[in-house]
Amino acid sequence: MLHYLINFFYPPRCAACDVRLGSGAMRRLCEQCHAAIDRMPDALCEICGIPLETNCYDADGTEWCVKCRSAPPHFSRARAVVRYRHDGGDRNDAADGGDGSAAAHLSDVVPSIIRRHKYGLDQSLSHALAECLGDQLPLGEADYDVIIPVPLHIGRLRWRGFNQAAMLAVTVARRIDRPLDLRTLVRVRDTPPQTRQNRGERIKNLKRAFAVRRPARIASRRILLIDDVMTTGATADECARTLLAAGARRVDVLTLARAV
Ligand SMILES: [Zn+2]
Ligand SMILES: [Zn+2]
Repeated sequence: MLHYLINFFYPPRCAACDVRLGSGAMRRLCEQCHAAIDRMPDALCEICGIPLETNCYDADGTEWCVKCRSAPPHFSRARAVVRYRHDGGDRNDAADGGDGSAAAHLSDVVPSIIRRHKYGLDQSLSHALAECLGDQLPLGEADYDVIIPVPLHIGRLRWRGFNQAAMLAVTVARRIDRPLDLRTLVRVRDTPPQTRQNRGERIKNLKRAFAVRRPARIASRRILLIDDVMTTGATADECARTLLAAGARRVDVLTLARAV
């Protein structure tokens, strides 16, 4: 009854394009948007998960991209559910700085949801994000001891009210039936908006941005790190470096979207 009344007064709208959905709609995405989600292709760099067809196919046949061959990241594998075209700025890292300018470049379904989710403070949109995750995660589900989201700095968390990566982590933890840890990895430095910085400056800014509280909780654990979007991977790499230095056995990364 309550559900009916809520639907009557607030007809559900598509979380990506805002079109009205039927009042009985169970999904948070309209059919068009759901069909337009750009899934990742099969040919990926084994390590960082970037599509090999785009910018870094390696001639001698290895399935590592050029970047991972020259400087492998600290995480073992990163995978994403969907991809989006990306032109300029490091949205993943910039988003943590609270600067939405890079997000304006994004035009397709998932970035639209993420943008609205991030700046619209609408927690119900997490259901739409969960829908985008789909039935099957692109990583082996039995391989992890604990799920950890990329944390926000406490000041930013207060300002924004929630951590979107943490919401996704809740969904993933439930999906693969693994414990969720929201307290061990923390962000100790709030990094400034990074869209106007070059890559070197961004990496320098991220150094020592994270810390592990009570390392015993992750000692020898296999960790699945969750974030909403990966662009350069610098944030995930620094989280992984911090976790491994604190005693974790292995860190994999799962993001909802991947810039290509
Ligand atoms: Zn739609
Ligand atoms: Zn790679």
